[in-house]
Amino acid sequence: MKKPTKAQIINLDKKDGLAVFRDRFYIPAGITYMDGNSLGLLSSDAEESLMRVLDEWKRLGIKGWMEAERPWFWFAEQIGDMASPIVGAKSGEVVFSGTTTVNIHSLISSFYNPKGRRTKILADELNFPSDIYALKGQMKLRGICSQKNLVLVKADKDMLLDEQDIIEQMTDEVDLVFLPSVIYSTGQLLDMELLTAEAHKRNITIGFDCSHSVGAIPHNFDEWSVDFALWCSYKYMNGGPGASAFYYVNERHFDKEPLLTGWFGYLKEKQFDMLTEFIPAANAGRWQISSPGILGSSTIEGALKIILEAGINNIREKSLKMTSALVDLLQEKVFPDYPEFKIITPFDDNRRGGHIALEHPEAVRINEALKARDIVPDLRPPNIIRLAPVALYNTYEEVWNVVEAFKEIMDSKEFKKYSKERKTVS
Ligand SMILES: *Cc1c(COP(=O)(O)O)cnc(C)c1O
Repeated sequence: MKKPTKAQIINLDKKDGLAVFRDRFYIPAGITYMDGNSLGLLSSDAEESLMRVLDEWKRLGIKGWMEAERPWFWFAEQIGDMASPIVGAKSGEVVFSGTTTVNIHSLISSFYNPKGRRTKILADELNFPSDIYALKGQMKLRGICSQKNLVLVKADKDMLLDEQDIIEQMTDEVDLVFLPSVIYSTGQLLDMELLTAEAHKRNITIGFDCSHSVGAIPHNFDEWSVDFALWCSYKYMNGGPGASAFYYVNERHFDKEPLLTGWFGYLKEKQFDMLTEFIPAANAGRWQISSPGILGSSTIEGALKIILEAGINNIREKSLKMTSALVDLLQEKVFPDYPEFKIITPFDDNRRGGHIALEHPEAVRINEALKARDIVPDLRPPNIIRLAPVALYNTYEEVWNVVEAFKEIMDSKEFKKYSKERKTVS
């Protein structure tokens, strides 16, 4: 909608089929929260599932492993199954376990098999740093020089990655491609289906870090034939700070050997035989390492319930409408007077994730001025402000208000009051 009026924006909220879900979230008082891409908010459903598990521990002690409403022993597998429809996976392919970076190590240890000429991993220079650290560590563990063998596809002058560039670099020296679904800084969504098909044509294994897309965007891992994927649960999935993460392994790889082996990857029925010889689970469960973090992660059950109830396609539809309203309003109301602003996120719906990345030379100070107005954006250095209007709990009116705040901050130059120094967590 070009040049929407405030009345039209408010009307979008009135007609919004997902508006009912906002009441199930705890919105910090007085805050316009636009940071669901970093940490999703707590819902009463998530609080309930957490309190239930706490109570089960209180009442059942160790019996909770088998007798809790959702037995802790099966928690990782059952929650994985519960999440499988939102990523287009089958039962047994998704597991709720470990944490994002640990799962990268665990899966890459099995899926990276350098041999002969094929020794390289293809990733990209915009990748989340932790992912790069993990890839380098995995190479070092095998005595492979990451300087020569970790190939990072470069972004263009607009900070965007071109799928064709990535495909061109899938040479016969590449063993594994590991890429983000949505680039955390720019909000660009890569074409996972195309990249998977092209990698497979060249006999290359491909995996994705979907931390910035699951919960915001539908995925079809099975249909696309992705080899493996992983993602955190605390961004658009609203699982809570540091909650366990998810991973997906396509069933054709269920016979692959896990190498970061631990007892929770054991064949479940026999795990408590306590034998020293490792017999892996027959499905994706084999890549688990330790006891699942039941307490710190039981929020996910309620959080997932909301996503399933709302429907991932409806969530995506609203998210796209909100980010495009944000862009339209900024272009209409702010950019004409302040042309130093630049939106990095692609406008095309098929290339955009759940947040908008806005560049400005004074981003650090503008970000502070937004925070002083009780808006929560976030900043990625050196000069990107990220804004995520989240379908489940933000309103179109909030989008309108954020744009008004931008305009006032620029017109009054109030951002100049703030330091140019970036805070430790911003
Ligand atoms: C959020 C995020 C992570 C976080 O890693 P943790 O191990 O959960 O701290 C890693 N990679 C990407 C791409 C992310 O977006």
